[in-house]
Amino acid sequence: MELDVSRALLAPGTEFPFSAVETVPPQDVIGETVTFEPALLQGAYSAVDGAVRLTGKLTTTAHAMCALCMEPATVPLAVSFDEEFRKDVNELEDEAFRYEGKQVPLNQLTLTLIMLNLPMRFLCKRNCAGSKAYQALRKETPKSSCEEEEPRTQRPFEALQRLLKEDEEV
Ligand SMILES: [Zn+2]
Repeated sequence: MELDVSRALLAPGTEFPFSAVETVPPQDVIGETVTFEPALLQGAYSAVDGAVRLTGKLTTTAHAMCALCMEPATVPLAVSFDEEFRKDVNELEDEAFRYEGKQVPLNQLTLTLIMLNLPMRFLCKRNCAGSKAYQALRKETPKSSCEEEEPRTQRPFEALQRLLKEDEEV
């Protein structure tokens, strides 16, 4: 959806509260489909010199397959944001989003925040033992146990590298 920021443009420097619900289509994440419950964005918007600033928090729940046992996995996401929207922006080069007129589009912001904060892999529970096949594999390759020490959240490119590595190991 689009957020009408005309009040902020008329009163530069003043913060206005907002809350919005954004629907995010299923995403293909390195070959796996991840679906999302409607994302709730709550925060404030303000304008200075024609640029609009949005701050607040995004919450949603992501659904995918557990990486270890293939059962459904649910991961709640809560992402704080502080983002700028400008009219003259090149989204590929600048650290800002584009908006037109008096409407700030929330779809690209929402998708970007979610994709940058997805866990590197989905687990159905913290200590999922994995499928029988996975357990058998782990017994044969005990070295992989150090993987558990890694943080759960990584940037997409790191996750990609990691997945490629895992592919080679299989
Ligand atoms: Zn599992």
